[in-house]
Formats: sequence, C-alpha cells, structure tokens
Amino acid sequence: MCLTPIAGYYRGGARQSALLRRYRSHTQKLVPPTPSNRARAILQQVYGFDAFRDWQETIIGHVLAGEHALVVMPTGGGKSLCYQIPALIRRGVGLVVSPLIALMKDQVDALRQLGVRAAVINSSLDPAERMTAEHQLRTGQLDMVYVAPERLLTPAFLALLTQTELALIAIDEAHCIAQWGHDFRPEYLQLSRLRKRFAHVPCIAVTATADKPTQDEVCRRLDIPVTGVFIAGFDRPNIQYRVLVKTNQKRQLLRLLQGEHERDAGIVYCLSRKQVDRIAAWLTSQGHTALPYHAGLSREMRYDHQNRFLREEAVIIVATIAFGMGIDKPDVRFVAHLTIPQSLEAYYQETGRAGRDGLPATAWMVYGLGDVVTMRRIQESSEATEQHRMVQRHKLNALVGYCEATACRRQIVLNYFGEPFRGPCNNCDNCLHPVDTWDGTVAAQKVLSCIYRTKQRFGSGHIIDILLGKTTDKVLHYRHQSLSTFGVGNELSATQWRSVIRQLVATNFLDIDITGYGVLRLTNKSGSVLRDERRVALRRDPMPPRTAKKRPRPQVDSMTTPDRALFALLKKVRIELARKQGVPAYHIFADRTLAEMAALRPRSLDEFQELHGVGDVKRDRYGPLFLAAIQQYGSARSQ
Ligand code: ADP
Ligand code: ZN
Repeated sequence: MCLTPIAGYYRGGARQSALLRRYRSHTQKLVPPTPSNRARAILQQVYGFDAFRDWQETIIGHVLAGEHALVVMPTGGGKSLCYQIPALIRRGVGLVVSPLIALMKDQVDALRQLGVRAAVINSSLDPAERMTAEHQLRTGQLDMVYVAPERLLTPAFLALLTQTELALIAIDEAHCIAQWGHDFRPEYLQLSRLRKRFAHVPCIAVTATADKPTQDEVCRRLDIPVTGVFIAGFDRPNIQYRVLVKTNQKRQLLRLLQGEHERDAGIVYCLSRKQVDRIAAWLTSQGHTALPYHAGLSREMRYDHQNRFLREEAVIIVATIAFGMGIDKPDVRFVAHLTIPQSLEAYYQETGRAGRDGLPATAWMVYGLGDVVTMRRIQESSEATEQHRMVQRHKLNALVGYCEATACRRQIVLNYFGEPFRGPCNNCDNCLHPVDTWDGTVAAQKVLSCIYRTKQRFGSGHIIDILLGKTTDKVLHYRHQSLSTFGVGNELSATQWRSVIRQLVATNFLDIDITGYGVLRLTNKSGSVLRDERRVALRRDPMPPRTAKKRPRPQVDSMTTPDRALFALLKKVRIELARKQGVPAYHIFADRTLAEMAALRPRSLDEFQELHGVGDVKRDRYGPLFLAAIQQYGSARSQ
C-alpha cells in the first residue's frame, strides 16, 4: 500500500489515495505497529470483514516475514486475502500471476471497489491501455498488478519488473506448474525462472486442487520449503451434499428448484451439449431464467450468458463442464448434476462453486447406472495412455462408491483428500436421513449367478428381465427362460434390482465392460459372494426419492415480512448501482451485507460500517444511498 513508511513497511509517496491516507492516520493513532495488527486493520477497514478465517492470519504473517509459501485451500476458502493483504502492507507492488483472464479482471474490479489501486496486464488490453498500466506500474501508482504467465517473461516485461519494487509474487492456480497436476500448463514452467530471478521477493503459490505429489512438484519448481506449505480445511460446512437415484431427472430437478431454490442463482451440469440445450430450453419453458453454456456456442454468446449469470439475479446456467473455471460468483445457491462427473476431484471442484459466501447452499446430484456406463465409455475412448486410463477408472470407481455410500458424504470426500474428518456432519442426505441397510447377500448371489450363467455377455436390463421371469423376445431368442435363475427374483422390483446392481458395481463385486455397451462382468471379488464366504450389506433406496425438507435460510429467512420487503428494495438499489458501473451486483455488496442491512437498519455511516463487507471506501461510496433508501422505507411504512 502506498503509505508513508511506518517501521519500514510502507512506501512513501505523494500519490496515496484518500482511503489510504485515512487508514494511515487511523492506524498511527490506534494500532501499535505490528504486522498482524496492520493486517487486521486492513481486513476491517478495507475489506469490511470482522475476523480472519482459519489459517489466513498465520499465512499472512508468514509472507509478511518475507517467507515463501504454498497454500492449498479449497475454492472459496479465502486464498486471495493471503496475498492481497501482505501486498498492501509490504513495500512495493504485489505481482499476481493468474492464467484466467476473466478472473483477473473480476478480482481487479473488486479491488478497485475497495479503493485499492490494482490493474491487469494481459492480452485483453489494447496498446493504449497497456501503456497506461505499465506506466502506472513503473511510477509506483499500483498496489497490485495481475499478469498472465505468458506475458511475464518477455524481455520487455522483465525489464519493467526490474525497475519496479516488488512486494511479493503470488502465483494463482499454482498446480498448473506440475506435470502431475491435472491441469499442467507449459507456460507455467517459466515461473521457476521468474522465481530465481527475484529470489529475495516472497513467493506465495496458491491452489485449490493439489494432491500430495502435485504439492511436492510445485514446491520443487518454485523452491518453496516444506515449512512453507499450508493445507487448510477442505470442508465446506455450508454446502449440503445430496445424491439421488435418477428416476425422472426433469421432475427431480423441478422439485429441487420449486421446493428450495425458487429465485436462486445456480448451475446445472449436464454431460453433452445437446442435453444442455434441451434442459435450458425446458427450464425456460417452466418460467426460469436458464441460459446454456458449452463449447459449441459462439464466444459472444458464452460471454453474454456468463455475464448475465454474474450480474443478474436468479439466473440458472445450464452447462457442460466447460463452464466454471474462474467463476467467482459468491452467491451461487445450488449446483445440480444431472450426470456424474469423472472423479471426486471434479465433483468437489464443481460443487465447490456453490455457497462461496458461506450461506447455505446445495450440491445435488441424480445418478443411475447408465451414467456410469456412459462415463466409462468416454474415458475408454480417450487417447490417453493405458496407465492414465487406469487412473481414470480408479477415480470414477471412487465417485460411484461415493454415490452409493451409506455413511456421511462429507466424511467420504474429506478423507479422500487426505483430511481426517469423522461424521456425522448433519448436513448431507445420509446424515439427515440415515440410510437403512439390508442383508443383500442372497440378492447379490442371484445377480452374480445370473450373469455367470449368461456368460457375462449382457447388460443390466436383460439380467433383470431374467430375474423377474419376463419372457421378452430377447429372453426367448437366447432361451434364457430355461436358466435356473429365470424368475427367481420376484421378491424385488425392477427398480430395486437396478439398485442392487448399481451397488455391486460401486463396491467392485461387478464390473461394467463398456466395449460391449454396458455388459456386466464378474470381478475377482465376485467369487467370495457366490461361495457364500462374504455378506453383502446394501442400502435401501428410499421410495419415492428423497428431497430434503425446505431449509430455512439463516440470514434471509429469519426476517420478518417487512424486512424481506426492505431486502428486496436494497437489492434494487444494488442492481442499479451495479448496472451504472457495469460490474456484477455482488461487487457492490454481498447478499449477506444486504440481509444484515435489512435486519439491522443502520441509521448512520458509523452503524453502516458495522455491517459485514463494508470497509471505508464502500461506506463512503454507497452508505448515503443505502441509508436514504432505508430511511425512506421506514417513513413510508410509518405513514
Ligand atoms: P479463493 O481464492 O480461495 O477461492 P477468495 O479469496 O475468492 O477464495 O474468497 C472467497 C470469498 O470469501 C470472497 O467473497 C471473500 O471476500 C470472502 N472472504 C475471504 N476471507 C474472508 C474473511 N476473513 N471474512 C469474511 N469473508 C472473507
Ligand atoms: Zn454427513
């Protein structure tokens, strides 16, 4: 931050902003000059937040002490603050390397709203804009600069950096530097050189997805000591995880929307572009604002849809997995999967886009055996090496296991990422409605033996027909009515048999061979069940499919009716401000801030600043307008 030096931390200069001048005088008067007090003061006065989250303060202290760090923290965990605050406190400009142009712009816009002098330098700038930004950088007019990796090591930019005092180097999406990571980017390798060239500048690498081998590789390439590695909680307690057996996906989705997310922003993930178009059109016909997003749409349309999702209220994006990278919308209230992702990593990343503001959100998925078959087929038809395909199969199996689990879902996911957690979490479907299990050994034996007797050449539909004793054309054609397993399964319905088969696949008692379109095969575990050496416990799928009861929303739903009206009014003020400035509504204020505003009804700027997310700049910039709206509302009601 461009301040007169205090104990060597601040850089002097005439160009400091009004906010920072005020901040300085404030800190000089009230706060003893220790780094952690400064960090806390900035948290409150610039960001308007009360307290640091787990680890943030420790990491900030570490970087302020000039040390290097690798921070592995889930999406929404609050990684940005870990480098932004040290960048504001240390002398010089914070250099932030980020691969995602949309995200860079979003972060810089948000920082400017807070009164921080930030700029982007990337390929989206025209030459004049770039020259301005570079001039600002050279002349010390910036607190933070966001740069794309490919631009960094050009001789011209390196020369510019050498003339600039760097507060720190922050590397976002740091797993991209690891060849073992799932998203390796060759241009990231050059960051090792940058790191060596500015060896004395603290380097903070951050990522949301890095398993242990990836973490090790990042540290090696960026020369970060093990003592600088911080792995912070992956738990997202405000997200409720639910998995349903797919019966009628449209009806199931509609029930979720109508029952719990009537006017909410959310993402619906589909497998194919066709499905995206179909579901988006159908949701629109049901009265929702639903916009498709996939790689087959024009750039302009994708941009437009993403923008509307960010800026308007209650927009649902229906998307393939092409959507989401770099989306930093805090108030996504639900993420719905109409098809399974490829791995638990992908699932956790996609669902992690819900509820970044910490308010209750839902991660909801419907799945069936057909999805597993489709996903397998996609994986097997890829051009990857056999070793890579094996890893993919393993990851998909873990996901299917998660879907069929009877234990706390949060426990399963967190343990998968190596974080010890013992359920119940009381915020997943299995904890909220404990699942009944039943002894499915005999049922399993019937299925396995039927598959064995039909020579492992058929899919689940035909196997179930045989168990139920149906004389379909196919059964007659293969003379399967003469098998000993024909008609032995009338104690269960077709749906229940499908559930048995799914669970046997999930627990590796059965395998799906996709080369033969979903043919079921025995595995080396099947024998022990057939020989009666092993019991099989199965979950009893609830019928009809469960939907959780409507959950109260702590911030908003606890409001009385007039508060809700005020909340709606404040939202209007917010959207108007956002529209005028061409920024997303949440850049003005988060829902939580408006909810607090509606409940507490501040009457002065001082009271206004007590609200979550209100720092000095936003207090002055927006306070009067919102205070006036609250006052008008109050007097209109008392008349
Ligand atoms: P990440 O980069 O880890 O995905 P962000 O840094 O974007 O996460 O933070 C996610 C959200 O949490 C943002 O809206 C941010 O303003 C908010 N946030 C971060 N730290 C705090 C805090 N200490 N108190 C309140 N909100 C915070
Ligand atoms: Zn749970």
